[in-house]
Amino acid sequence: MHQRVFILGGTGEARQLAARLADRPGLRLTSSLAGRVREPRLPVGEVRIGGFGGVEGLAAWVREQRIDAVVDATHPFARTMTDNAALACHRVGVPLLVVRRPGWTAEPGDDWHPVESLRAAAELLPELGERVFLTTGRQGLAHFAALDLWFLVRAVDPPDVALPARTTVLLDRGPFTVDGERELLREHRVDVVVTKDSGGRMTTAKLTAARELGIPVVVVQRPPLPDVPHVGTVDAAVSWLDALLPREDHAG
Ligand code: NAP
Repeated sequence: MHQRVFILGGTGEARQLAARLADRPGLRLTSSLAGRVREPRLPVGEVRIGGFGGVEGLAAWVREQRIDAVVDATHPFARTMTDNAALACHRVGVPLLVVRRPGWTAEPGDDWHPVESLRAAAELLPELGERVFLTTGRQGLAHFAALDLWFLVRAVDPPDVALPARTTVLLDRGPFTVDGERELLREHRVDVVVTKDSGGRMTTAKLTAARELGIPVVVVQRPPLPDVPHVGTVDAAVSWLDALLPREDHAG
């Protein structure tokens, strides 16, 4: 009988974890993506794409597939998915671990403005600048639509919602370099950056470039985690799985 592990993905950590588990004897691994991005970076191994239909659907899927452990390695801002996973796993009695990379911390020279939501970011912006670099992704852009400011919006796929009247869209995906980000901020004469506190290394270059150029950064704080076990690294997630599902080669 295979041990069955299910990873809720859409992040670098989810892909790294899948790679670490891919060749483990006796383990069958499935990763799940929401299907938001047209050409997603796929993890190794079995992948399913698309929502489950809420808590009920996820609980049914986990039960039907006889999953032994779920690892939620979704993005720190994928709040609905994380809340749903907590409820669904509790309902079906399957162990769940959340992998959450640590958030960023301000360094000397940073001019950060923490806010609780994208909406709060939109409210604060007119006080901070006129030319905005918005790096918060496609979702939530509607909060900025009514603002009479100039926006550089960077996203992986073209936004499909109403945008502010004065917007330039830049289609790109990380990792980014400090040189590239500095050049972008200069070229577009950006005077304020908006980011989620995503954490991780893939997108920190904009923070370094903003610090160097003395540009303020509006940092949207993370939503709270549900009351479930969580770790900060892929290594710690592998250790959790080792303890829960002893490796066949160790199990004798
Ligand atoms: P969300 O708002 O928390 O989730 C909305 C719905 O999308 C969920 O209820 C679920 O639909 C579906 N969903 C989300 N993640 C899924 C997954 N890994 N597999 C299958 N279905 C999933 O999620 P989100 O913020 O839109 O994020 C969507 C995906 O993009 C996630 O994989 C996340 O890791 C990744 N991502 C998000 C951000 C961000 O800033 N939010 C940034 C980078 C990557 P059902 O209710 O139908 O099951």
